[in-house]
Amino acid sequence: MLKGLARWLRAYGYDASWTYGIDDQVLLEQARREGRIVLTADGGILRLRSVRRGDPPGWKVGHEKPPLQQLQDLVKELGLARKAIRCMGCGGELKRVPKQSVREEAPPRTFAWLDEFYRCLACGQLFWPGTHYRRIQQQLKFLELE
Ligand SMILES: [Zn+2]
Repeated sequence: MLKGLARWLRAYGYDASWTYGIDDQVLLEQARREGRIVLTADGGILRLRSVRRGDPPGWKVGHEKPPLQQLQDLVKELGLARKAIRCMGCGGELKRVPKQSVREEAPPRTFAWLDEFYRCLACGQLFWPGTHYRRIQQQLKFLELE
């Protein structure tokens, strides 16, 4: 249910993991193993004794809200500082790569206009600060001002 929020969390700099239809026990195990906070839109998982003890910690998110609003709530409630943008597809870290190394891969117009390119260290996806990226940055900036 919180796929949109996961993407926004990654844009905000957090390594959010999201799996469609994941089993509660598998989710809790993964959260413990990887030191994650479980974010959920349905309260059931938060009533489990281990989660109430903070093993792993859980947090309820209002599912009726749009993802950007959910992010804004979380930023406020958990006091999250903004960090460097991560891969919105998988949450991996982005590393700047030399322009010449992406000549074959980047769209020709993009390659001609831009000098900055980044690659996700986890899934290999190529990123650049194009219009989509700028729109995201603007929305996050707007959120910081509120
Ligand atoms: Zn990635």
